[in-house]
Amino acid sequence: MLDPKRTIAELKELRALTGDENGSQRVAWTDTWLAARQWFASKLEGLPVKRHRDAAGNGWVTLPGESERALLLGGHLDSVPNGGWLDGCLDLLAGLEVLRRFNDEFNGKPPFTVCLVDWADEEGARFGRSLLGSSAFAGTHSIDADRGRTDKDGIRLEDALRRCGVEIDRFAEAEQGQLNAAAYLELHIEQGPVLERLDLPLGVVLGTKGVERHAITFHGQEAHSGSTPMNVRKDALAAAAKLALEIRTIAGRHADAVCTMGSVKTFPGIVTAVVGRCEVTLDQRDLDAGVLASMYAEAQFASEAFALDERCTVEWSRIWSIEPVPFHPKLIELCEAAIQETADRSHKLPSGPLHDAAEVSRAGIPTVMMFVQSLGGISHNKIEDTSEEHLEMAVTALDRLATKTVAWLQSQ
Ligand SMILES: [Zn+2]
Repeated sequence: MLDPKRTIAELKELRALTGDENGSQRVAWTDTWLAARQWFASKLEGLPVKRHRDAAGNGWVTLPGESERALLLGGHLDSVPNGGWLDGCLDLLAGLEVLRRFNDEFNGKPPFTVCLVDWADEEGARFGRSLLGSSAFAGTHSIDADRGRTDKDGIRLEDALRRCGVEIDRFAEAEQGQLNAAAYLELHIEQGPVLERLDLPLGVVLGTKGVERHAITFHGQEAHSGSTPMNVRKDALAAAAKLALEIRTIAGRHADAVCTMGSVKTFPGIVTAVVGRCEVTLDQRDLDAGVLASMYAEAQFASEAFALDERCTVEWSRIWSIEPVPFHPKLIELCEAAIQETADRSHKLPSGPLHDAAEVSRAGIPTVMMFVQSLGGISHNKIEDTSEEHLEMAVTALDRLATKTVAWLQSQ
């Protein structure tokens, strides 16, 4: 029988084992992370499951069914430093509870194979490369570019992985996990304020937003702050400041879009000089590729107009981008039904943060995510929390979704 209270007890156990007064410390490829994985393995004792590590260090737990085709339930045990107690591990422990229920109900042989996947290094907290394990699974990894990354102590990614038994050169073999994967479900805390503001425990995730991330440099002229009249200045900061306000208008034209100027650097950056050069970053996100492209064009156009206004010039360079990943329409429908049966009301929302589910979906496997409300919308912090009532509902709704998904897969 499904026991959502057991999931909460296990989450607290994991918190006590791998956290301290500053929060969770399960950073990928560290001893604390390995201890969390060992603890997770101890929870599988007595279940008729097979375990293996794939070539990218993802942990697989398989409950073999009548059919080799598999329902995948995933999450990640790694956390950011000083992280919360739910991010990633709720997904996996709720999945474990669902697997136990399938095992009980079908006496160890469910009609469909059920797999739990503990994705390696979702957070990218140590080496700055998020979704490392799931991108290897999806075949979208960029390991040649990533292998030389180092952490703050100068340890190379390649060496940190080798210490945990993962050889970077064999990363591509992780794609073998796709073979029998028929569908993928992931429950996650929302990490934002939307569900709380709507007073809803659970929501259906429509997909993960695409991201356009750019470095923008405005070039003006450094000049003395005392001797240079206002009307002849070439103030690079003034142009950047206009853009910082304009991106709010640009985002406002599109329903769920967000634009953020997260960094502003001025040169020479002293109190007695007009800013000659201003470097800013722009992060734009939306679920619709067309909206994303148009927001990017609108911001570029605006930046050129503001540069001209201020007698400056502007240049753009792309830091990183990823396309939007919409989830599977049938699974969105099933997820909504599971939530409605559990909480009476549901809501559909896109995810601003990226998740392993996006990589699985990019591999062509039907995927959906479910969000549970985050108190205060806070995550990646020790105050991250969700009410226990909502956590229990989340486990129940995930279980219902798993049942519906298997029924749908069997009907195909
Ligand atoms: Zn997460």
